[in-house]
Amino acid sequence: MPKLQAAQIAVTPFQQNCALIWDAETGRGAVIDPGGDVPRILAAIERGQVTAERILLTHGHLDHAGGAAELKRALEARQGVPVPIEGPDRRDEFLLSGIAAQAAEYGLDGMADATPDRWLSEGETVAIAGQDFEVLHCPGHTPGHLVFASRGLGFAVVGDVLFRGSVGRTDFPYGDGEALIASIRDKLLPLGDDMRFLCGHGPGSTFGEERRSNPFLR
Ligand SMILES: [Zn+2]
Repeated sequence: MPKLQAAQIAVTPFQQNCALIWDAETGRGAVIDPGGDVPRILAAIERGQVTAERILLTHGHLDHAGGAAELKRALEARQGVPVPIEGPDRRDEFLLSGIAAQAAEYGLDGMADATPDRWLSEGETVAIAGQDFEVLHCPGHTPGHLVFASRGLGFAVVGDVLFRGSVGRTDFPYGDGEALIASIRDKLLPLGDDMRFLCGHGPGSTFGEERRSNPFLR
């Protein structure tokens, strides 16, 4: 079992956790949710001597996906091969195609619409640092939100579905609080108490810790 390295890079004024995950032995890695501040993501890639093979998106919100197009261009120039953007589920297409317009409303520079090279669906797998991760569709925060989980590694990236002591907001016109809790209860918690996760905002946790103490899961 390879020992994967993970770096969290807080990006955008929303302090969103972009994740860089890589295998230190091979240098193979992936970037998850590059919302912006692309030069800082590239600096982390440089520091870790990582070859970023793909960009993964958990969902279509601008703080998670607004830097994806710029990062893809920069990585392709640096590495000389195509770097695909993979995910989220196609049900978030309306969010990805509205990023530039929404960023303008917020007065944020340097964000662009993102166009995935591959939409992902429940039951598929994606490679992160040479390891297969399951794709879980976990709607509620957005309709097409995905979680990437490896049972073998005991590790998941959950985006804005679940946080330490909280859950993703669902007060958007397209949000669905019941669906969000069902996603957590039916898909995430069954992965096991010991599974660690990184999330889109704040520190990570384990599913067991959240099952026991998260007030939104009572
Ligand atoms: Zn979000």
